[in-house]
Amino acid sequence: MIRGAHAIIDLAALSHNFQRVKQLAPNSKVMAVIKADAYGHGMLQVAKTLSDADGFAVACLAEARVLREAGITQAITVLQGFRDADELQAMISQRLRPVIHQHWQLELLERLAQGELEIWFKVNTGMGRLGFALEQAGDIWSRLQACKHVSHCGLMSHFANADEPDHALNSQQLQCFQQLAQEFAAETTLANSAGLIAFDQAQGDWVRPGIMLYGSSPLIGQTAAELELKPVMQLKSRIIAINHLSKGQPVGYGSNWLCPQDMPVGVVGIGYGDGYPRHARSGTPVWIAGKPSQLLGRVSMDMITVDLRNIEQAQIGDEVELWGNTLSVDEVAQHADTISYELLCNMKACRTS
Ligand SMILES: *Cc1c(COP(=O)(O)O)cnc(C)c1O
Repeated sequence: MIRGAHAIIDLAALSHNFQRVKQLAPNSKVMAVIKADAYGHGMLQVAKTLSDADGFAVACLAEARVLREAGITQAITVLQGFRDADELQAMISQRLRPVIHQHWQLELLERLAQGELEIWFKVNTGMGRLGFALEQAGDIWSRLQACKHVSHCGLMSHFANADEPDHALNSQQLQCFQQLAQEFAAETTLANSAGLIAFDQAQGDWVRPGIMLYGSSPLIGQTAAELELKPVMQLKSRIIAINHLSKGQPVGYGSNWLCPQDMPVGVVGIGYGDGYPRHARSGTPVWIAGKPSQLLGRVSMDMITVDLRNIEQAQIGDEVELWGNTLSVDEVAQHADTISYELLCNMKACRTS
């Protein structure tokens, strides 16, 4: 049977990228970030493949539970922490490590009657999302140290602009963080993929790579290939129709792409319903039977139209690569005014492995 839109996951490439993390941050433990179903790659298969990871990070309790139920024994950080007292209890019994970033979470810890858990204390050094204000950091740190049931507390923060290493806020955040880390003599975690590549000093005790594990570049202006990362996901489909249109004929919804000459136009069985970005513009690259081509006109729900002018041999059933080994997801993201993260996360729908 000819398969339609499908994503293939290359677990050997995932292992390779993990080794790149180890090379780049040889003195840090690795907390592989596998939230959002491992950025669309399948959380459990990713966790099982990364058996050498020192730990994993997920967004919420539900994700962590799935990992524990599947027999994953490594440390698991829950990036959003617990949402109420019940979740706190569940995290204690499942040996999860929540991130503490709100006063009411601290108060729940202070009132805890039994059990033991490790936590991350998160400070806002500039991201302005999760984390206590710097002015309160000393006070809250002391209160956490006094919590009888907190067996271990690390210090955490998050970069807002690590994808642009020259951004002025990076060194400011790093400096703030290092100062606190020294003051508290704490175990540390600061760097995401971009941070760990761009700033050795930010690697700390634990690095938190996400996107680079999946083979996409975390840095603006540097390709995944330049960083020696291998794409993990390949998105493919096939040509389902070939039409010969005349000069001036429109292609697709809105009729805003007009054939500049008599030409063959291919129809490929993939669209935004499969997770391909609707905002991909005319000119977005695609590869057809091993040759470069481009998207024409608007993306439909389950189809796109492509240029066959330079692919005379094109036939129904020819394989089309939307991103993967030949065409990087980063390049497609640029043509769709988004980032690879969003494209990968959206692929849950048609993943087959
Ligand atoms: C998602 C996330 C990461 C991973 O970021 P990448 O850019 O994918 O490497 C690290 N830390 C936190 C707090 C996150 O939310």
